[in-house]
Amino acid sequence: MQQKLEGFMVAIMGGDAREQTLAEELAAAGALVNVTALPVKNKTAGVVVCSEPEECLRGVGAVILPVPGINEKGLIYCPLSRHPITLTGNLLSKVPAGAPVFVGVARPLLVEMATRHGLRLIELMKLDEVAILNSIPTAEGAVQMAMEMMPITIHGCRAFVLGFGRTGATLARLLGAMGARTKVVARRYEHLARITEMNLTPVPFRDLPEKISEADVIFNTIPAPVLTEAILKKIQAGTLIIDLASAPGGVEFGKADGMGIKAVLAPGLPGKVAPKTAGLILARVITRLLLQEMAGN
Ligand code: NAP
Repeated sequence: MQQKLEGFMVAIMGGDAREQTLAEELAAAGALVNVTALPVKNKTAGVVVCSEPEECLRGVGAVILPVPGINEKGLIYCPLSRHPITLTGNLLSKVPAGAPVFVGVARPLLVEMATRHGLRLIELMKLDEVAILNSIPTAEGAVQMAMEMMPITIHGCRAFVLGFGRTGATLARLLGAMGARTKVVARRYEHLARITEMNLTPVPFRDLPEKISEADVIFNTIPAPVLTEAILKKIQAGTLIIDLASAPGGVEFGKADGMGIKAVLAPGLPGKVAPKTAGLILARVITRLLLQEMAGN
């Protein structure tokens, strides 16, 4: 295999099965990978397990934090480790100014710390490339949940997809291919046109209140309060809502309960249903970005 990242030192701090795959892939591409708070399954050439975060950061040219990053107290997401670690300014001062720090989504504390130490924060989930590739396991995971929770097949069911962005488009295509009678709710005319071209049924966003009663299952991808109490009142009891939008989602969950509507928030599906694929997606994109770093652009 071509050692594209030959000799490049990178630290992976915390994470889950996705970062385990990522560590293996970066090492296979020739990088020297230090990991901390992340057990590695097999001894992998090029991967060094560090018990201390300081050791992990020594000499590295880039830092990779887990997809959820750090919490509001600086604790790094590391569910597989018995020794949680906190990201501090002191730790980040060991990283050369200007180095990239990769994370899925950055909370304000991380933004503040990276800025203070002159580090370049790269939020992977904001990149179209990652969002589009991640939409594949997300859509599969959403359909899997619907199959487990509905008493009817996907084929022939009346499915609504709210939103036609990166996730909504992939999910709508998958549902259509599985034979669901798929209606897609969008507000842009070009999206409604594309939905028609895909042989799915477009529903302008303003028509949502009058059409939504026709659903057996609703997948929400709109990160805004769309399924409000007023809309929920129009949905038939027994309908399933799977809310994919980031917390707090787009559903008034407290109201849905009392109306006999089953509504579930389904965060982080790629990491849950396909951690290896999710890790490979991270590896593909981070490798490309590191190569750009090495090329100096
Ligand atoms: P996206 O590409 O930005 O798409 C968002 C869609 O929502 C677009 O169709 C957008 O319409 C529509 N929208 C946004 N605000 C709206 C509003 N106020 N009223 C009506 N429509 C509105 O985002 P994405 O990548 O598909 O992600 C969607 C959500 O899913 C995000 O919250 C993301 O974090 C989350 N997500 C969750 C998972 C999971 O595992 N659960 C995985 C991936 C992503 P316009 O184009 O007209 O603006």
